[in-house]
Formats: sequence, structure tokens, C-alpha cells
Amino acid sequence: MQLNDIKQIKSLFPTLHQKVNGQDLVYLDSAATAMKPTAVIDRITRYYQLDNSNVHRGAHYLSQRGTDEFEKARHTVAEFINAKHDSEIIFTRGTTESINLVSSSYGRNFLKEGDEVILSIMEHHANVVPWHVLKTEKGIVLKYVYLTEDGQLDLEQLKRLVSSKTKLITVTGCSNTLGTFTDLKAITAIAKSVSAKVLVDAAQLVSQHKIDVQELDCDFLVFSGHKLFGPTGIGVLYAKQELLEQMPPYQTGGSMILEVTEQATTFHRPPFRFEAGTPHIEGVVGLMSAIQFFNSIDKTWLRAHEDKMLNAATSELEKLGDVVIYGSKANKAPILSFNIKGVHNSDVAALMDQQGVAVRSGHHCTQPLMKYLKTVGTIRASFSIYNDLNDVEKFVASVKKAKDLLL
Ligand code: PMP
Repeated sequence: MQLNDIKQIKSLFPTLHQKVNGQDLVYLDSAATAMKPTAVIDRITRYYQLDNSNVHRGAHYLSQRGTDEFEKARHTVAEFINAKHDSEIIFTRGTTESINLVSSSYGRNFLKEGDEVILSIMEHHANVVPWHVLKTEKGIVLKYVYLTEDGQLDLEQLKRLVSSKTKLITVTGCSNTLGTFTDLKAITAIAKSVSAKVLVDAAQLVSQHKIDVQELDCDFLVFSGHKLFGPTGIGVLYAKQELLEQMPPYQTGGSMILEVTEQATTFHRPPFRFEAGTPHIEGVVGLMSAIQFFNSIDKTWLRAHEDKMLNAATSELEKLGDVVIYGSKANKAPILSFNIKGVHNSDVAALMDQQGVAVRSGHHCTQPLMKYLKTVGTIRASFSIYNDLNDVEKFVASVKKAKDLLL
């Protein structure tokens, strides 16, 4: 039986059930980080109460059991995104570190001066800055694909942009600022037509859509545990086995070696070559628990539930007047980026907070997108699995009140 009862789902998230500023909390900032269900919190506690030991090194019982759980988590992640091999899953600190690993290990060694990397204008800074660094270091060329009139990624422009110089397309599966999904299958097909690699930033996508890396045929895919109802400080890099085999280590030290002599080291095979030092073990088991939780949610119900919240919030905001909503209307996750005309986004968010409604304001780590949309920032309400129409009502009331006070 899969979970599809909002009351039951809400009850599984203890952090939601508190007052802030004297009001019941309405948490609409899941695109910054998602709340954690009791199952995940309990699993992490159990790790320290019962299992605490280091992995991949001890000969004793606890260490063996810990290692088995750690590798079971790797298998759980591989199954979750349908990777062909468990060894294609590297544990990292999060999306940011995963992209840095690719840019440092793959980028530094396989990209050269004049090679072109294409990004979407919706990318999070985590998927922009590492490429800026590589541009300075290696002289690669960065090109951007923009949006159509209705706010979708412009695939026709992408087709015109690619050439034999294109070596990598690095793109989000879902914009953390606008909620817009990108057509990853079409993007991969365009990339393959010029033999370019594809990196998918799935940080926002992973809690929305089923991901199948074999079907997508992407070369790299990255995400963070904390936006998938799991712990902070843990994330995933998926990369095709044949690429990992060719990539040099990103960091070096214990665990990632075959042999160390006084003067030289030979490195382990992937995935261990990319996991130097004691890993974030409780993060890994917490992530496994988060995936098990997310797998227990009825996805047909979830899509309909999130669409219902998004549609209600959008039409109610539109009715208020003096509100600008950014991005696409269709094909999007339940994320609403908006401004009240003539008012600074942070003033609105502060007034909403006083009413117990937690939203994010600012540039959402997407400054190139803000510039493209000709704004310094937006107010972003991101709805998730545990929100409901009652939250939408309180959200709209809080915007209305802020607007009445500020205009
Ligand atoms: N990419 C996207 C699309 C994101 O939403 C985020 C987090 N907001 C990141 C990258 C960076 O993730 P992290 O901070 O967990 O490394």
C-alpha cells in the first residue's frame, strides 16, 4: 500500500508541527531544504545508538555490519535512479560537491581550450561557478540556452547552438527558482547528435519525478539528500562506468587506494577512488531511509496533489492584482516565484514570516536568471509532499496582507 493521505503524510514530519511568531508554521521553503520524516530521523539516531563504527576497514562485527548497510545504501540509490551498476554511484557532500567533482576530475582532464560547454540560463550557481573556474583555467567557452516566450527551455535555440565544438551540456532537470521542468530526453538526444556529454542537475527534480538514468542516457546526474527528505551533507554523483574508469581522483587519502609506498600510490577502482577518507556514514544510511520513504509515496497521487496546490496558489495570486509571476505556467513543479509590483521581495517575505509563512526571497542562487528576467530577486513559495490547500489559503492571505501593508 502506498501513502496517499495528506493528513497521514503531514503527521510524519515533526518539524512542521510548531508555532513560529505565534502562528502555526506554514513551511513553503522545501526548494531550499525539505523537512525530514520521523523514519529518517530515527534511522540516523539508531545508527549512533547501535551501529556506530567505521566502514570498509574494520575486521569486527559492527564494522562489517556498517559496511553492509553502507553498500546497501549505494544499491538503494542505484535502483532509485536505475543505474546499471552500484559502482556508478559516488557519495559526495551534495549537488555542489558532485558538480565540482565532475568539473575538476572530468573537466580538467578531458576539456581543452576552445571546447564549448552549454548551460541553461536557469542553472543554480552550483552549476555555473565550477564552469567559470574551468573557463579561467582552461579557456573553455560557455554558452547559454534561454527560454521561450512561454517560459520553457528553448530547444530550438539549443539545436542551433550545438556543434562539433560542444563537449558538454550541463542542465537542471527542474529549475529551483521557477519550477520549470526541462525535457531531458530531448536535450540528451541533441547532445548525442554532436557526441557531447550531458550532466543533469537533479537537485530539484529528484523529489518530483521518477528518474531513469539509462532511459535518459545522461552521462552524469547529481543530487543532494536534503532536498529529498534526507540529511544535509550527503549527495550523489551518478556517472557512467566507462567515464569513471577514466577519471582521476578528485580528493586523495585513505580508503581510495590500492597500495601506498613511500614514494607512490595506486588508486582503487570506482566508486572508492572518489570517496577519500571516512565518509558521511549516518548521512548515507539517512539517505537510504529517505529514498525508502519517498518510494512509499503514491506518485500518481503526488503529481495530482502538487498540481492542485500549484494551480490554486497561482490563480489566487493572479486575482490579487499587482503581482508578477515568473516562469512557465505549464510543465512545472509546485514552485511559485513572484513579486509585488514596486515592493522589495525581502520586505514581503519578512511580513509573511510574521504570519508564520516561511518562504525564500532573493536571487535563489540563480543570478544569471534574475538578470535575464530583469529583476533583482523574487519571493519563492515552494510546496511539497506535506503541504495542503489549507497552506495555500494561508499563503495567499499572507501575501494579501503584506501587499495591503506595503502598497
Ligand atoms: N542545483 C539546484 C537546482 C538546487 O536547487 C540546489 C540547492 N538549492 C543546488 C544545485 C545546490 O545544492 P546543494 O546546496 O545541496 O549542494
